Amino acid sequence: MDKNFQEEFTQIIKFKPPLYKQRHQFVKDLVEKYKPKKVADLGCADCSLLRMLKFCSCIEVLAGLDICANVMKEKMYTLSPLPVDYLQPSERSLTITLHHGSVAHKDPCMLGFDLVTCIELIEHLEEPELKKFPEVVFGFMAPSIVVISTPNSEFNPLLPGVMLYRHPDHKFEWNQAQFQSWALETARCYDYSVEFTGVGHPPTGMEKAGFCTQIGVFTRKNPQTGKSVQSEKPAEAVYKTVFKAVYPSLKDEKYLQNAVISEVIFTAQIIKHRLMSKHEEYGNDPERKSKFQPSMDCFSDCLGKLVVEKNMEPFVSGNEVHIPLATIFSFPKVNRLCGTFEKLCKLIAGKVTLSSDGSAVMFNIEHENEDN
Ligand code: SAH
Repeated sequence: MDKNFQEEFTQIIKFKPPLYKQRHQFVKDLVEKYKPKKVADLGCADCSLLRMLKFCSCIEVLAGLDICANVMKEKMYTLSPLPVDYLQPSERSLTITLHHGSVAHKDPCMLGFDLVTCIELIEHLEEPELKKFPEVVFGFMAPSIVVISTPNSEFNPLLPGVMLYRHPDHKFEWNQAQFQSWALETARCYDYSVEFTGVGHPPTGMEKAGFCTQIGVFTRKNPQTGKSVQSEKPAEAVYKTVFKAVYPSLKDEKYLQNAVISEVIFTAQIIKHRLMSKHEEYGNDPERKSKFQPSMDCFSDCLGKLVVEKNMEPFVSGNEVHIPLATIFSFPKVNRLCGTFEKLCKLIAGKVTLSSDGSAVMFNIEHENEDN
């Protein structure tokens, strides 16, 4: 490499967005493409990648592993659910767990993942750990996809201030040929294919240097098997769980019930409000006021294409307003939450005031009338 040319670039190379963000974005794009449900981040450090991935709606299980418990503990509470997660539980379930342990050891809690990410991890491994790493990740965990990123040493001369390695804890840094030969051999051994790419483009004219961060995306050749090549003896738990967050989800009956009750009451209030405004128009006619059945036209904008049956019409009788459950069930949000009419009845039983035959939500408007 021409020394002057190299020096010129060392002054100006600055990645935008920063390289770590580009690496994390790379993983996020991969998640959005392959939609894995279970993702494990090995060498998760301060959990910044996990924090980004928790917003990917396909993910239901997220796990982090690091040999340094303190670095994980620093910001692990930022992975906890927020008040808004309780106010509006999501449809998907999400569990985030952090484990303290080494990628050189097998633990059953690492089985069953679809995607395993190892971002800037392998260069931190001592030789014996690096030797065990493929057997643990590809042989034991055996996810459908593994992403491994590591510094490309050919790029180092372009980085300001890098003498030997980019970080004092790095045990090695590989050039492109070294990484690719290790990755190809690992892929061959465990029946994966691998594609090479990277983030952090070299400057024009320096393309030979390759990406600043080199990345290998490994795909298991036999996705149907789904079983890892495990040793005869099942692995015993060796990792220590340091954090676990279970997000509120509508898959959990308790949160579903709350959401359904709120939505049923909200919907019934809307119907009642519209009914009462119509009702007031007939306010001076006592006969019509005592048993009032409005045309469903006044709800038609909410009901959409609903075919209205007679028994779905809300009505006022004396001081009571009856809003049939069948009408409420036809509202898209209630319908989607419950799925079936039976489920709606089951979830609101004993929680919402119903008519004596249980077919309608009932409001007593005695006091409302007094106010008027
Ligand atoms: N993946 C993170 C940080 C990488 S730094 C990111 O993308 O920003 C490497 C991390 O690997 C460190 O937090 C270090 O503690 C962890 N590590 C080193 N050796 C390990 C091992 N044997 N098992 C698990 N984690 C290890």
